Amino acid sequence: MSNKYVLVLNCGSSSLKFAVIDAISGEDLLSGLSECFGLEDACIKWKTRVGQQESKHQESLGAFSAHTEAMAYIVDTILAAHPTLKQQILAVGHRVVHGGEQFSGSVIINDEVLQGIEACATLAPLHNPAHIIGILAAKVAFPQLAQIAVFDTAFHQTMPQKAFIYALPYQLYREHSIRRFGMHGTSHRYICQTAAKTLGIAVEDLNLISAHLGNGASVTAIKAGISVDTSMGMTPLEGVVMGTRCGDLDPSIIFYLVQNLGYSLKEVEDMMNKQSGLLGISELTNDCRGIEEGHANGHKGASLALDIFCYRLAKYIASYTVPLGRIDALVFTGGIGENSALIRQKVIELLSIFNFKLDRQRNLAARFGQQGQITADTGPVAMVIPTNEEWVIAQDALKLID
Ligand code: AMP
Repeated sequence: MSNKYVLVLNCGSSSLKFAVIDAISGEDLLSGLSECFGLEDACIKWKTRVGQQESKHQESLGAFSAHTEAMAYIVDTILAAHPTLKQQILAVGHRVVHGGEQFSGSVIINDEVLQGIEACATLAPLHNPAHIIGILAAKVAFPQLAQIAVFDTAFHQTMPQKAFIYALPYQLYREHSIRRFGMHGTSHRYICQTAAKTLGIAVEDLNLISAHLGNGASVTAIKAGISVDTSMGMTPLEGVVMGTRCGDLDPSIIFYLVQNLGYSLKEVEDMMNKQSGLLGISELTNDCRGIEEGHANGHKGASLALDIFCYRLAKYIASYTVPLGRIDALVFTGGIGENSALIRQKVIELLSIFNFKLDRQRNLAARFGQQGQITADTGPVAMVIPTNEEWVIAQDALKLID
């Protein structure tokens, strides 16, 4: 079978992740990260794989470099050193965070799509403008290739109104699209497809709870292969406790902070997005590894953060029995879901009403990219599936150009 390579780009406001993926096998031949855009130490790191041989590289991009310089470096230096690979790239796939209600699937980017992504920028002000910069830079670098947009929100467009309408005046939805959109859709979709294969159940018959636990975290209820509810909301701030985001809270806290404690709205927004979650509770770190280490060393804040994280997550998972009725599997993914045996164990223990029987050996073994069931063969299934959003983006790109 001939190679079907896709360049996958994920542009953030101050970083650009890139990978050349074989859309058929999912293998990444080249991948990297350019970061610290706009700062003196803007840099680019990448690794290439030829057969079993991996080589790693790092270079400075030049002070105050950003997306355009990074894109130029990827094309003119990194890919230029691998001309055969470069020539075989068939399309460029872009991760786009917010597609609003306009995009319920992946699309080939044209002027109308670009306008659509721009129109959704009010809903993702840090991400969508960066995606547009990345798309324009990629168009210049690869004028002959189709550019494809894959939206984080698209998978959740199947949610029914009862799951996505907030109990606010309906007019806010009608006139301003204020509703739950959900995020991490590309990851939840990958989990659904992979779980179906692993469990030997057709996607259309699969009922799943997918817990994507990274620095950002969301839980999705998947019924008969489609998203019917998810924990993130109009923005990624809602839902479970995250690395630095607070997740669900009483909205009156915002008024109290502003009216009684003198915070500005900007300060509250920053606090809830960047200083809360595991970091805020523990007063130690947003990094789960540091939280686990702190907990093991008797750091009270770390133990409390861990407890709250697991408790709130378990409550969300339990609540999804309402839309699902029957659950074929609970899946953990994302940096924490794929690696933290401790968090998985605590969450499973909190869900004792479901009779999950944790297999300790399996739970400890499912780390560092290992996929596997973590419960005993009898009883309900909980498992770990390492996510692979890049592969989904590459597959969608290939389908669209075909
Ligand atoms: P992500 O956003 O998916 O890259 O996930 C980042 C989170 O995964 C951070 O909180 C990390 O601390 C956590 N993580 C990565 N590796 C481990 C590990 N071995 N044990 C526990 N947490 C981990």
